[in-house]
Amino acid sequence: MNARQPSPDTEARSTEASDRYLAVTHEVVNQPPALENYNLYLQDRALQEAVRREGADWAEAGLDRFGALCGTAESIELGFLANENKPVFHSHDRFGHRIDQVNFHPAYHQLMTRAFEQGLHSSPWTAPRAGAHVERAAKYYMHSQVEAAHCCPVTMTFAAIPSIRKQPELAAAWEGRILANSYDARNLPDADKGSVTIGMAMTEKQGGSDVRANSTRAWPVGQPGPGQAYELVGHKWFVSAPMCDAFLVLAQTESGLSCFLMPRWRPDGSKNPWQVQRLKNKMGNVANASSEVELRGALAWMVGEEGRGVPTIIEMVAMTRFDCMIGSAAGMRQAAAQALHHCRHRSAFGQRLSTQPLMQNVLADLALESEAALAYTMRVARALDNQHLEHERLLARLATPVGKYWICKRTPNHAYEAMECIGGSGVMEDCILPRLFRESPVNAIWEGSGNVQCLDTLRVLQRDPEALDAFFREASEARGANPHFDRFLAQLQNDFADTGELQYRARNLVDRLAVLMQGALLLRNAPAEVADAYCASRLQHNGGQNYGNLPRGINPKAIIQRATPVVD
Ligand SMILES: Cc1cc2nc3c(=O)[nH]c(=O)nc-3n(C[C@H](O)[C@H](O)[C@H](O)COP(=O)(O)OP(=O)(O)OC[C@H]3O[C@@H](n4cnc5c(N)ncnc54)[C@H](O)[C@@H]3O)c2cc1C
Repeated sequence: MNARQPSPDTEARSTEASDRYLAVTHEVVNQPPALENYNLYLQDRALQEAVRREGADWAEAGLDRFGALCGTAESIELGFLANENKPVFHSHDRFGHRIDQVNFHPAYHQLMTRAFEQGLHSSPWTAPRAGAHVERAAKYYMHSQVEAAHCCPVTMTFAAIPSIRKQPELAAAWEGRILANSYDARNLPDADKGSVTIGMAMTEKQGGSDVRANSTRAWPVGQPGPGQAYELVGHKWFVSAPMCDAFLVLAQTESGLSCFLMPRWRPDGSKNPWQVQRLKNKMGNVANASSEVELRGALAWMVGEEGRGVPTIIEMVAMTRFDCMIGSAAGMRQAAAQALHHCRHRSAFGQRLSTQPLMQNVLADLALESEAALAYTMRVARALDNQHLEHERLLARLATPVGKYWICKRTPNHAYEAMECIGGSGVMEDCILPRLFRESPVNAIWEGSGNVQCLDTLRVLQRDPEALDAFFREASEARGANPHFDRFLAQLQNDFADTGELQYRARNLVDRLAVLMQGALLLRNAPAEVADAYCASRLQHNGGQNYGNLPRGINPKAIIQRATPVVD
């Protein structure tokens, strides 16, 4: 040994001494690696199977690439930055000109750019084909796991197309720019932009669910009627993404509530008098700005028939409700992925959490809920791809309010339970769980809150009774595969025969339609351990109320293994 080199003994003594000197207190152990740099598509077997099953197998190479992009540490960081830096509203510039400008963190714009370049607002309209909605839903599902709030204007832009098409000359003027796969954040007249975003303004102070109570008035500038120019005077109590280039707005004419397309700027390049009063101070969804607005003679063009504003805008609302389902299913997937990943690495009382029976029951239950939500959502996506088929049209009509109600409503408790799996660190803001939790009630409340979805379900039953037949026909495909399912189906069909006090019973009926369909889809398509566990825990009652109530005789390990993203 070289005389100048310390002996191992001397080296150990000096390390010990320097540890004391530096007051090194401990080594960090028993913590998971960050769940990042993983492929959100390849690490999600349920998603891959759903994509193939529902008709978008042609899209897999692109989904694989996009899944890898969504999982990078850089992408995940964008979501954190966009939320840590809330949007800021400026009513005027420093010279006193009204500007109605909302400034966002660059991360928000990067996420928007990615969403629009990927066609999350356009692909089923620009390239309709079998599986187009399924492919878009899969991409949206992955992208909104990174950051959900900015998806609001993406959805509204996407969903506006069916409503705007009701006024062909307006569609001709706007559609090319709405469907362009690029994002232009500049606060400029739309005529100067190659791509635009669209928002919606329905809710007023006196009524959100009941928009018939809207007091905003529309006055014809010249000739009245569809496609004509009006000036709007009134207010809107919730307008999300106020930097959108144009909005679909509801306002009253002499013939009743009508729908209008209102740009932020007038054709002469002056600012339309659509004035943001302030931004909402939201508990969640903070990366997305939502505002209160006053309309002081804002120029707008009537879309669709006068007095038929609700049927016109409902085309948009139907699509936004579908996206609420995708978004909430995505929230549950990300929450489950975080919980499963954490427990795969974390030990307590000498054993990995994911191997301990009580935690296995909770984790498997969370994974089941997430997979069931995805299976339902992707089945609706296929129905949207096949609206020329009567069964699919009827199915989408009923399955949308049922699924919007159920999946969005299941999300908050799911997020909380996943947070608890992570323990105290799950409550901390440098973990994604607080964001998922705060985001979780939003989809349930906007675009028609829970009761409104139930009332819409009853409306379908009354106006389109064949939709219930289509729903049961679809569910019955799974008959004979599981005794719990067969009993549940028969009981539910029986209960629908009773038409007494339907409004009072609506939540119960809609809950059961949702779990029936989820059970049917899993029985037909998922591995037996998933389907059987779902039916045993959701289609019969064992007295338990919380997650972690899976009965004995199922295989939680297999469910956990299927759902866990493997990142070491
Ligand atoms: C973050 C956020 C962003 C939003 N962005 C927009 C936007 O961009 N544009 C827009 O137009 N709106 C927007 N909204 C508004 C949203 O759509 C409304 O809040 C929602 O429709 C409910 O309306 P409301 O708040 O007036 O509640 P209300 O209509 O008063 O409803 C209150 C409760 O009563 C229930 N209810 C209503 N009617 C019945 C009935 N007949 N029977 C039983 N129960 C009933 C509802 O389900 C709800 O639970 C946003 C809301 C939020 C939270």
